[in-house]
Amino acid sequence: MSPMTNVRDTTFDQDVEYMHLIKAYILGVFLDDFKFQDATSDAMLAKAQTVMNDGFRYCPGVDPINLVYKNTSRGSLLRQMVLDMYVEEAMPDRMDDADEHYTYDSDFMAELALGLMGKRGSLAIDDEEAEDEDENMSDEDGDELEDEEQETTDPCRYHEHVRTGMPCYRTVFKKYL
Ligand SMILES: [Zn+2]
Repeated sequence: MSPMTNVRDTTFDQDVEYMHLIKAYILGVFLDDFKFQDATSDAMLAKAQTVMNDGFRYCPGVDPINLVYKNTSRGSLLRQMVLDMYVEEAMPDRMDDADEHYTYDSDFMAELALGLMGKRGSLAIDDEEAEDEDENMSDEDGDELEDEEQETTDPCRYHEHVRTGMPCYRTVFKKYL
């Protein structure tokens, strides 16, 4: 088995797990159980942040992305979460299969383009500030961006309970977590 095959197999397994989690989230929508939805989206976030045994982290691929967009509407927090994964962290090789370019949900592709354009705008502002300080310290640009992202990280940013004004499941079920 070639190394490339190993990587592909790992990627496939990641998408299968994402598909299960997304289906669970959609079930939570049908059941009108926002605590279940929030716990499921947290599981997806934890999965995306986990380094696998091949040394890589994996965001959802084309099938999980399309499942999200097919079963949610504009303004969905689940949509926002998977979109942020692509805008903020996904590497180009996540989408480098030419056949897949044309199979991603069109709304996702449009929102991804807008998200990247918005990020490019903020990078340009940061670049100007960095040039004022030191033209040869481009590496520090990235560090500053990461620091800013960590400062703005809210553990409930993709949680539905915020919209309802109800407490977080992490609080309600604290003694079980
Ligand atoms: Zn919460």
